[in-house]
Amino acid sequence: MKNKRALIYIAAVLGIAALMAVVVWIKQLQRTGTETQAAKTEFIMDTVVEIRASGPDAEAAVDAAFAEMSRVEKVFSRHLKDSAITRINQGSGQWVPVTDEVMALLEKALHYSELSSGAFDITVGRLIDLWGFGTDKQKIPPETELAQALATVGYRSVEIDKSAKMVRIPSGTIIDLGGIAKGYAVDQARKVLEAKGVKSGMIYAGGDITTIGAKPDGSSWRVGVQHPRESTALIGIVEMENKTIVTSGDYERYFMDNGIRYHHIIDPHTGYPARDVISVTIYGSEAADADALSTTIFVLGLERGKALIENLPGYEAVIVDQEGNVWVSSGLAGQITLL
Ligand code: ADP
Ligand code: MG
Repeated sequence: MKNKRALIYIAAVLGIAALMAVVVWIKQLQRTGTETQAAKTEFIMDTVVEIRASGPDAEAAVDAAFAEMSRVEKVFSRHLKDSAITRINQGSGQWVPVTDEVMALLEKALHYSELSSGAFDITVGRLIDLWGFGTDKQKIPPETELAQALATVGYRSVEIDKSAKMVRIPSGTIIDLGGIAKGYAVDQARKVLEAKGVKSGMIYAGGDITTIGAKPDGSSWRVGVQHPRESTALIGIVEMENKTIVTSGDYERYFMDNGIRYHHIIDPHTGYPARDVISVTIYGSEAADADALSTTIFVLGLERGKALIENLPGYEAVIVDQEGNVWVSSGLAGQITLL
């Protein structure tokens, strides 16, 4: 009698346990059922952009991230009619009202100008136009025209009235946010993905790559650093989660003349392409900052670039000099596998 009751009791406990296990299993199935994955590629900001995400509605998240990147491009491209930057350029000599967003990115750009004594300078627009980078009319400009364009360059002449939310550049100056806007667009896209519940994702925009969390299988993202002279080779691989890598190289936009390479990263002090290094990769959390820093350090060159990055918390660098020597900053050395 006693034995029988004990058996019934054990059977009941086992039954309940089995039932609970089934409930947990179904719940888990439902959860993975709502975890979707999406990957899309579009051509935005003059470059191929790929976004990968997994989350509750990955497809909608990826679409929203692309929409945000297009919005940012429409605000910051100086080649689009009606963009905020076009309005500032067309209104040169006068105060032009700007949004908080435009004000903030201009201030960030000017911060990197201050930090580098003008190696990074958004007032290079006239110089970029003169060289014809980004067009099919690339050529070495005549000295007189170069001197005229150089006279319009100087970040200190960008005036900002924060309380009135106005910006003024000198008449004839052209600002160009090509050295920072793509990174900002990547940051914005990442924020959209995160807001849509994406816990694992990757945004690839030309030389700019940002990651959210780890890969869907739980391992870290492995991001290759492009070899500056062999388009299919890498100089190293960096393992990362929630981090960004941005590269500026002399191989992206350039033309050759008499065996000399002329590329789109200009030393604002000379008006000529910066020559000391051939590739700069920046590792850190914000893509806008990493983007500005990659251009900045490219212009500063190896020695001054090393000094800047080693004194800057939160950002690391890989610099390749003219001879192909690879230098890695101390904070990244343990995390990169050089090939
Ligand atoms: P990418 O075009 O791959 O994003 P960069 O981030 O290095 O490469 O940006 C290069 C762009 O930055 C140029 O096309 C030009 O628009 C702008 N630029 C060139 N030289 C400078 C400079 N010294 N300071 C700020 N922006 C620059
Ligand atoms: Mg840049």
